[in-house]
Amino acid sequence: MTFMPHGKHIIAGDRVGGDATFHASPVEGSAHDVAMGNAALVDRACKAAEDAFPSYAATSRADRAAFLNAIADEIEARGDAITEIGTRETGLPAARLQGERGRTVGQLRLFADHILKGDYLDRRHDPALPDRAPAPRPDLRMMQRPIGPVAVFGASNFPLAFSTAGGDTASALAAGCPVVVKGHEAHPGTAEIVGEAIAAAVTRCGLPAGVFSLIHGGSREAGTALVQHPLIRAVGFTGSLAGGRALFDLCAQRPEPIPFFGELGSVNPMFVMPAAMAARGAEIGKGWAGSLTMGAGQFCTNPGIAVLQDGPEADAFIEAARAALADSAPQTMLTGEIADAYRKGCDRVAGVAGVAQVFAGDAGPRAAAPALFAVGGADWLAAHALGEEVFGPLGLVVRARDADEMQEIARALDGQLTATLHIDDADTEAARPLMPVLERKAGRLLVNGFPTGVEVCDAMVHGGPYPASTNFGATSVGTLAIRRFLRPVCYQNMPDALLPEDLRG
Ligand code: NAP
Repeated sequence: MTFMPHGKHIIAGDRVGGDATFHASPVEGSAHDVAMGNAALVDRACKAAEDAFPSYAATSRADRAAFLNAIADEIEARGDAITEIGTRETGLPAARLQGERGRTVGQLRLFADHILKGDYLDRRHDPALPDRAPAPRPDLRMMQRPIGPVAVFGASNFPLAFSTAGGDTASALAAGCPVVVKGHEAHPGTAEIVGEAIAAAVTRCGLPAGVFSLIHGGSREAGTALVQHPLIRAVGFTGSLAGGRALFDLCAQRPEPIPFFGELGSVNPMFVMPAAMAARGAEIGKGWAGSLTMGAGQFCTNPGIAVLQDGPEADAFIEAARAALADSAPQTMLTGEIADAYRKGCDRVAGVAGVAQVFAGDAGPRAAAPALFAVGGADWLAAHALGEEVFGPLGLVVRARDADEMQEIARALDGQLTATLHIDDADTEAARPLMPVLERKAGRLLVNGFPTGVEVCDAMVHGGPYPASTNFGATSVGTLAIRRFLRPVCYQNMPDALLPEDLRG
């Protein structure tokens, strides 16, 4: 049965419409009207979140784990309808949305297990030393506590796993923080059905309704009001450098600045070392093309740049990548604006001195065809813009003169989510000097793989120095993501009766 969105906001359990609406523009099927967000609605959601905070923050870890599992159950119960509206709105294939739904419920359940273990509380205790000279030591206990209401921006490229019930929401709720989601205009119906799943779980678990609200977009007012609202304590965001930077700056300019955990863009460089290139350059080139075109290149971990040492083997690598890209069909992009931005990005790269276009495909207005470019190391180093993300299936091969120029290119990179080394055993010594450089550039370093496909687990880091992330100490994927929404509090000489339950005894 086709899911028909009601097009309303969900504010602390109430379905709230309004006269001002925007038109959802799905890739397939008929458009529908969606209530537009504004500052008054944001205020209502934030006040409800703050009202809910004391009791929600005081819930037991077992109760919050049950809530996260209940959200996962409610999403699974709506599984087919979520896939159906999600494919209609985004043009992503059903299999991708099914996989993303699995990841979304998986991360909710992972956070449930994580908080039950209790390690994330980082509890510390320095017992009193009343007889210590020259001064006695008081009893000191420390624990991580939730920070308060959190704002989450739905991401266009992950309608489920980075949106309404995505990793930001799951980690904030796990920490004990109410969440106000600003839905992405590209998939309001998907946001709504997932929002309904969360609202149902709130009711089922007997939690205060203000624990969750969803405000649709439609204008910039809702997003700007949300990050500036005095009751919001932190923001989770995935999107463009321009949009994220504007919102980050608003957070910093508040009378009381708050952390903005933004993931803003990355070209995820790959370094193909000489022995690996000689042994299997063509195979790596083909694999790279597959990673570049996955999901029309709309992944934050898309490996947009391959750095290699120039020579005949580089030609074989480029030819293998070209042939694989020429075989791949154009794909629908998430929105018309994203498709336009991709075309402009290709033109921008093509216009840089020294850049040669190796392959250009044809695609319709809301679609992307892969593009492949090559440039010499010196020309790349001279044009900083070539190191900026083009969101879509664009690959740039950088032909370095030698190992020293490869190093120089690594040092010139902006902050990245990932950096990849393709190596054989004989490359180990050549790769070693790159390690300290790349460790300072990226949140995740890979060997002989492709960075698309991010495991959700304890050891994952999905973050990195700016602009990969606005907060280089944080990750937005994996259990460590919960730390973004916690704050250490020290309790000195506090009687058990006043301590949080997790710190007693
Ligand atoms: P976006 O334009 O940055 O928008 C993301 C969210 O932020 C939307 O809810 C948007 O609201 C809001 N927003 C943006 N600028 C704002 C501002 N100045 N004030 C208030 N709210 C603002 O990202 P997008 O729509 O997802 O995609 C556009 C481009 O972002 C892509 O072409 C791509 O370059 C990049 N992108 C990168 C990644 C990545 O992982 N690196 C992921 C997704 C997108 P509105 O919808 O109301 O504008």
